[in-house]
Amino acid sequence: MLVRDILSTKQIGKIISVVTTDKVSTAAELLSEMRIGAVIVRDAGNEMDGILSERDIVRELGRSGSGCLTNVVSDLMTSNVKSCTSTDTTQQVMQMMTDGRFRHMPVMDDGKLVGVISIGDVVAARIKEVQFENDSMADLIAGNI
Ligand code: AMP
Repeated sequence: MLVRDILSTKQIGKIISVVTTDKVSTAAELLSEMRIGAVIVRDAGNEMDGILSERDIVRELGRSGSGCLTNVVSDLMTSNVKSCTSTDTTQQVMQMMTDGRFRHMPVMDDGKLVGVISIGDVVAARIKEVQFENDSMADLIAGNI
């Protein structure tokens, strides 16, 4: 299965983002409201400039307390964002997320942001894929194919 197959079945199709100058509290409200774990951070030119996950916020809350909620998003975001493309496979993306220890990935095609996937999306797709392979093998062994 490919990343584009995951994107086509996602319930939240739109890309949820904040801008670098937004307050961390605004990003936290959005994460809560949309029930997601990370937001894309855009610069003034609307280009992706980073990613901010709930983990970045919790880490800073633990380090410096609730005052960090009035910081701007660019203070806490990760700038070196790793992305995939819509033609990557679920296995490739799982490996990238495991190696990089993150659970969210922007999908970029020809330099354009086309979606965001989470480890939950990837695991769900992979389970479906493995189930299909198992069923096909069982049919083959039983002589149904
Ligand atoms: P996550 O597991 O996705 O909640 O994020 C864990 C850490 O990795 C946080 O510091 C995020 O800002 C960062 N992060 C999340 N997604 C990515 C990504 N695609 N590329 C680089 N860093 C990321």
